[in-house]
Amino acid sequence: TREIHLASRPDGKPTLDNFRTVEVDLPDLDDGQVLVRNTIMSVDPYMRGRMNDVESYVPPFQIDQPLDGGAVGTVIESRVEQLPVGTKVTHGLGWREHAILAGDAVRPLTARGMPDSAYLGVLGMPGLTAYAGLLLAGEMREGDAVFVSGAAGAVGSAVGQIAKLKGASRVIGSAGTPEKIARLEELGFDAAFNYHDGDVTEQLAKAAPEGIDVYFDNVGGDHLEAAIANLRTDGRVAMCGAISQYNSTEPASAPHNLALAIGKRLTLRGFVIAKYAEQTRADFERDMGRWIADGSIHWDETARDGLDAAPQAFIDLLDGANTGKMIVNL
Ligand code: NDP
Repeated sequence: TREIHLASRPDGKPTLDNFRTVEVDLPDLDDGQVLVRNTIMSVDPYMRGRMNDVESYVPPFQIDQPLDGGAVGTVIESRVEQLPVGTKVTHGLGWREHAILAGDAVRPLTARGMPDSAYLGVLGMPGLTAYAGLLLAGEMREGDAVFVSGAAGAVGSAVGQIAKLKGASRVIGSAGTPEKIARLEELGFDAAFNYHDGDVTEQLAKAAPEGIDVYFDNVGGDHLEAAIANLRTDGRVAMCGAISQYNSTEPASAPHNLALAIGKRLTLRGFVIAKYAEQTRADFERDMGRWIADGSIHWDETARDGLDAAPQAFIDLLDGANTGKMIVNL
């Protein structure tokens, strides 16, 4: 079977040379383990941080070792009674065609007639991140005006729609192409702008003439500066990601206006979804299940095919080639 290893650490933007496909033999299963044939794997922006040799909330990938990340697959050999052959599961050993896992390291897909890939997107980690980040970290309340960056991506597109469903007065999104802006309008955003079209602070002021109450930050840098400039008194920022800096070798040049947070009494709260997962999973599954069933949440996917396509899919994700969740079919 084949898996993808980290061949070297990227300096700035990752390149295909940073990855290596390796042929490996599968060991026999021990009691309590299952063998899974992976069918879909996720590429996610946080993996870029793990390619650097720095300790973070998730440990760094190791050179000449397989990468890992979210995946869906089917149990094809089992030494766990509760997980018979044929069970579809989600787990954390992506970037490989087959995975051997302990029974408690996989989660069976709960049958809801959903496509399997949804468990890596709207029903999985990105959906949960949107839900908990907006409602817990951002403390969004009915009537709030909400701005989300990276709005056409997996997390951002869910944030905007959840905000509307939870009674936001106005939802504004930013993204990087005209097609993505058109899509945000279809998804029910009240306003959307392309951050390449001009100064982000000015574009946001135009889209939210009365200001915003919550900013869900996927991007950092000039987007965070724009939000600080446009937040109203007692506004909140859910600091989810800073993708504008992930490939950067220079320190961030924005925000310059952080001191405005004092007079406006702003709250800027960073969060990591793993810390909210247990507390919020039941509410998330109830609300998201209902919204999907009644058609009030939509999601997009951008898919590539084959393990060999995974490194380029990851590189392209960081460049914005995806609308909605980027996945790789294996
Ligand atoms: P997305 O599906 O949003 O994909 C990444 C998107 O980022 C691209 O499509 C691109 O879209 C955009 N982008 C790339 N470079 C820039 C830039 N310089 N400025 C603005 N936008 C840029 O990914 P996810 O939804 O999976 O993740 C979104 C964010 O959430 C990331 O920052 C990620 O790290 C974070 N995250 C944090 C978690 C947590 O626990 N805190 C958990 C999960 C995700 P465009 O064409 O619009 O530029």
